[in-house]
Amino acid sequence: MATAIGIDLGTTYSCVGVWQNDRVEIIANDQGNKTTPSYVAFNDVERLIGDSAKNQVALNPTNTVFDAKRIVGRNFSDPVVQADMKHWPFKVIASDNDRPVIQVDFKGETKTFKPEEISSMVLIKMKETAESYLGKSVSNAVITVPAYFNDAQRQATRDSGMIAGLNVQRIINEPTAAAIAYGLEKCKGMGERNILIFDLGGGTFDVSLLTIEDGVFEVRATAGDTHLGGEDFDNRMVVHFVEEFKRKHKKDLMTNQRALRRLRTACERAKRTLSSSTNASIEIDALIDGLDFYTSLSRARFEELNADLFRNCLDPVERVLKDAKMDKKSVNEIVLVGGSTRIPKVQHLLQEYFNGKELNKSINPDEAVAYGAAIQAAIINNTGNAEVKGCILLDITPLTVGLETAGGVMTPLIPRGTTMPCKRSQTFSTYQDNQTSVLIRVFEGERAMTANNNPLGKFELSGIAPCPRGVPQIEVTYDISVDGILNVTAVDKANQRVKGSITITNDSNRLTPEEIQRLVAEANEFKQQDQEQRERIEAKNKLENYAYSVKQSIRDDKVSEKLSSDDQGALQQAVDKSLKWLEGNHTATKDEFEYQQKELESIVNPIMTKMYQEHGAGNGNGNGTSNGNGHQQQKSSNVDELD
Ligand code: AMP
Repeated sequence: MATAIGIDLGTTYSCVGVWQNDRVEIIANDQGNKTTPSYVAFNDVERLIGDSAKNQVALNPTNTVFDAKRIVGRNFSDPVVQADMKHWPFKVIASDNDRPVIQVDFKGETKTFKPEEISSMVLIKMKETAESYLGKSVSNAVITVPAYFNDAQRQATRDSGMIAGLNVQRIINEPTAAAIAYGLEKCKGMGERNILIFDLGGGTFDVSLLTIEDGVFEVRATAGDTHLGGEDFDNRMVVHFVEEFKRKHKKDLMTNQRALRRLRTACERAKRTLSSSTNASIEIDALIDGLDFYTSLSRARFEELNADLFRNCLDPVERVLKDAKMDKKSVNEIVLVGGSTRIPKVQHLLQEYFNGKELNKSINPDEAVAYGAAIQAAIINNTGNAEVKGCILLDITPLTVGLETAGGVMTPLIPRGTTMPCKRSQTFSTYQDNQTSVLIRVFEGERAMTANNNPLGKFELSGIAPCPRGVPQIEVTYDISVDGILNVTAVDKANQRVKGSITITNDSNRLTPEEIQRLVAEANEFKQQDQEQRERIEAKNKLENYAYSVKQSIRDDKVSEKLSSDDQGALQQAVDKSLKWLEGNHTATKDEFEYQQKELESIVNPIMTKMYQEHGAGNGNGNGTSNGNGHQQQKSSNVDELD
């Protein structure tokens, strides 16, 4: 049975899990962390993903990309993108069809990347993390998205997976995944339970209400804000301190990306501190023009800065209860997910809303979503135990989908909150006499007029036989897959050959299959380049280790006493030459490093072999003949720090 992984592709952090040995394993990355920053950085020599990208952000702010999830599936002119751009140190520009692309300097060239590509790079990192843990390649995956993600955003996430070389078996909603993580264990044999999942992460906010009974997870309602989370709280702090700095030093930090980035990092850290302490200090040396910034923030002030945002967190809670027609007293458990639910004020407001009911903090807020995704992957691939196999997930559509009828009216086909997959048909007709074609315009949203809803796509059905208005019967079918992706077909009932269809978002924002193919090829090329870079650094480290180990051997009395002074001199000279060469050739190629290594070995090996033959192997550390391989493992973890 093929192994499949579950990936929580987060705005700020991502996490990967796999079902193995009767349980879910959340997999640590090469730095030993179970969550990986959703960051990709570009510099003169290489591309970095995850921790190594985030760690160098202050040095290279304009070429370090994060928040791709906030752009994915949106237009450049989208007010959300426009507002976010003000906070991003990296550059976002519009390309064809109002699509946003990210512009960076990479290996001395200006390059642009689509948000799907950046997300795919994070996914590649998660895939590799899983592969190195499992010791085999993995391609099947379940990826999570916020429940409130619309069609375009889901499609774009699917595309990112494809570019990363993943077979995306299912896109599931983050809160639903969290509910599975919670419910599989905790709801066993407890009868019907109503669970509210409150998921406040780094960039998005999701609330879902589910009913769980005997392994059936039925989503009753979902709501949220695709743009509310920890980063917004960080932003408020940044703005506050920028003002403070201006007052104190008459200098505007907004003009200096590097200073801003350092301030933002300090703010995020202070915010975390404020979840457990009532005061947090900020100390940044030489923030701008040599000026130090030492200040502090109290929890009360932090809460005041974010008061409106925190209060906004209750709106979706109210909305899901209303949509599910449920009283707040009927909620059995309120489960906290997402790093930002650690904020005391958020917990306090939520608890107060539920009349003091205890909040459930029993699942790890950072890992729950990936945990649930891994269970879903096991369900699909039939790799789980009996309990997992008995799980049924009934998720619902986040938004109403419909089409435009005369006068710009939104006519719903599938209402919000319908269990997926689902399919609905409705018959429409023409508006004018002898009309031979109709334009099917597809929208999503809850407003009465299409002008206020979100256009998903359109297609024309032509070849209708001329008839008086109202006579032709055009049957339009909306089909939503388990992933929440919509397919629309239309057919003239009088002539089945007159038909048309569209998988939504084929329109302006969606990548075409050709583009995806091209990006897959490009991703492989980058992978190759990364591999070459890794090998280059390994070759460099190997040579360096080897040279130093020889140097150490010469210094070791137990070795040197067995060497003639000629041999000692020859070794010393060869090592010095290699080290000097290394100093001036940091950016040499793998072949050049290997050539230098061979040169050095050709001098060292005969001398060492002769010494062994004459004196036996008791030479103390024996490092002299080591080719450095013993250090390779340890040294290669330094790859990120070099150069
Ligand atoms: P997630 O996307 O669920 O991993 O959440 C990440 C967000 O949670 C980031 O914005 C973090 O700054 C935030 N976060 C993590 N730990 C804490 C904490 N102790 N207090 C406040 N926010 C936190």
